[in-house]
Amino acid sequence: MADKDQRIRVIVRKRPLNSKETKRNDPDILSLKSSNTIVVREQKSKVDLSKYIEEHSFTFDGVFNEDTTNQGLYSSCIQPLVQAAFQGAKVTCFAYGQTGSGKTYTMMGEGEIPGLYLLAAQDVFYLKNTYYPRVALYASFYEIYCGKLHDLLNDRNILHAREDAKQNVNIVGLQRKAVNNVNTLMEIINQGIHARTTGQTGANDDSSRSHAVLEISFMEQKMAKGKMSFIDLAGSERGADVSQSDYKTRMDSAEINKSLLALKECIRALDQDKKHTPFRGSKLTQVLKDSFVGNCRTVMIANVSPCLSSCEHTLNTLRYSDRVK
Ligand code: ADP
Ligand code: MG
Repeated sequence: MADKDQRIRVIVRKRPLNSKETKRNDPDILSLKSSNTIVVREQKSKVDLSKYIEEHSFTFDGVFNEDTTNQGLYSSCIQPLVQAAFQGAKVTCFAYGQTGSGKTYTMMGEGEIPGLYLLAAQDVFYLKNTYYPRVALYASFYEIYCGKLHDLLNDRNILHAREDAKQNVNIVGLQRKAVNNVNTLMEIINQGIHARTTGQTGANDDSSRSHAVLEISFMEQKMAKGKMSFIDLAGSERGADVSQSDYKTRMDSAEINKSLLALKECIRALDQDKKHTPFRGSKLTQVLKDSFVGNCRTVMIANVSPCLSSCEHTLNTLRYSDRVK
């Protein structure tokens, strides 16, 4: 089993100000004090800016500023774990944060810029071809939306999770596609992303309300070995959104809130070596049970927006992440 201190890493990623924020003079209130401390300047009064600034400082396993590329983040946080997955570890990477903070940018990249999916895929196949030719790789991609599992590789079919006699949690009927090279894997991922953004409420594309789970399974002689999971979580502000008037929205928000709280509790239980992991607390943690027990490595990337108008959400994200460990 991995060294306890290495099992969970919580890191923060600050994105750059975007053009809208720059245009409206929405200032950057985040600064890095060291490679693991971030400071938020909260403005308590609009009247006298100089007098009413409260500074909040948070320390994590790593803090990355707006100049960090996906490649830089990958090399420092995920790349060292690919080998572990070949050796049987369950590697899980979460992107947490408010909508617009950069979760999908981190996971998927944008345009020519690769995200963690592609960067990991390249190393997985490099290692397979070079050192582990007998390992077979499979991909699954599903979404948790309103507490229901949808298979993104099979028409958004609704699936159910079952716990077997050995207390393993399985998603019955989930598509697992054999993948032999980077291109096939990326095609499958793109197919899933397409299903993610065009399904759901029909006309209303709202990926901020769902958790997207990409799983790469490592099998040897038909036996499950390691696994790498990448989870683009629902927007964390959705959990706080429980005052919504629309019934469905309110139920969604309550569900997201429940799953993000359960996630925090499960990672904490792992960190504190607790005997009992409360993974039944939500659908998300139930299907990710594997990620919280035994030989596992977890990286939580807390994405934050730099601008003043996001201050409250940023503080919420940092406080949440602070309590994970
Ligand atoms: P989320 O998935 O958390 O809702 P996105 O990943 O869609 O947020 O990011 C919102 C916007 O910010 C996108 O237009 C994206 O291109 C941009 N963005 C996010 N992170 C970065 C980054 N590190 N560098 C440059 N642009 C970024
Ligand atoms: Mg997104």
